[in-house]
Amino acid sequence: MTIEITLLGTGSPIPDPHRAGPATLLRAADQVFLADCGRGVLQRLAAAGAAANQLTALLLTHLHSDHIADLGDVLITRWVSTFGPDPAALPIIGPPGTAAVVEAMLRAFGPDIGYRIAHHDDLTAPPPVTVHEHTDGSVWDRDGVRIAVAPTDHRPVAPTIGFRLEHAGAAVVLAGDTVPCAGLDRLAAGADALVHTVIRPDLIRLLPQQRIVDICDYHSSVQQAAATAARAGAHTLVLTHYVPAPAPGRHDEWRALAAAEFGGRIDVGDDLHRVVVGDHG
Ligand SMILES: [Zn+2]
Ligand SMILES: [Zn+2]
Repeated sequence: MTIEITLLGTGSPIPDPHRAGPATLLRAADQVFLADCGRGVLQRLAAAGAAANQLTALLLTHLHSDHIADLGDVLITRWVSTFGPDPAALPIIGPPGTAAVVEAMLRAFGPDIGYRIAHHDDLTAPPPVTVHEHTDGSVWDRDGVRIAVAPTDHRPVAPTIGFRLEHAGAAVVLAGDTVPCAGLDRLAAGADALVHTVIRPDLIRLLPQQRIVDICDYHSSVQQAAATAARAGAHTLVLTHYVPAPAPGRHDEWRALAAAEFGGRIDVGDDLHRVVVGDHG
């Protein structure tokens, strides 16, 4: 009776040979949730022993390109690799604006969808999806797994949401991209694990490009994410979506910055890092 977290992608919008784009896998009670779908997500999903056709639902924290870069790949690959008649629609839960993006993505793949329906007798309809747009409250309650969302603060990107998944008395919270805010504090209260995207303003501000420095406006620093975890009384803080990527052998430096604000367990994971919570026995 656990929740398993796998960091599928810990990278940022800047392509990195060793890090896929932001995405996190949550598994609980035979249900498989993909949160965000950054660059390379299906390769990392395969490495984690999962696949597009096994997804129970897709969760989107926001519509920044790095978080939805491979949305089309997820939709099309799930469609062509789901066999059997009358495939179930993929639930997609995201903030307002999600439906329009999903529609546009399917329209962009319109020629591909047409080719495959014309070619394969058993593909008779486009990829089935149901989009659910939410900013607050309960969004999922099925077979012992509950999911709630709350608004986060990633302005001027808005609306954005964080997710809280609960199963068998355990709770995992995905903050997404956000500065510290009341919505995230409420969502994260008492969580076993808080997965938080983080940046290092001390390093970013050294760069000569204002467009890069602008990143500091709407992300949490390592210390801010750690302070959020401390306020929440979380057991474990899992860092991800690093800007810039930690240099080889420097993970302890990031951990020390977090430890100054948070006394719990701190995971500075790379792609495919796995954390299991809720094994209270
Ligand atoms: Zn973002
Ligand atoms: Zn991001």
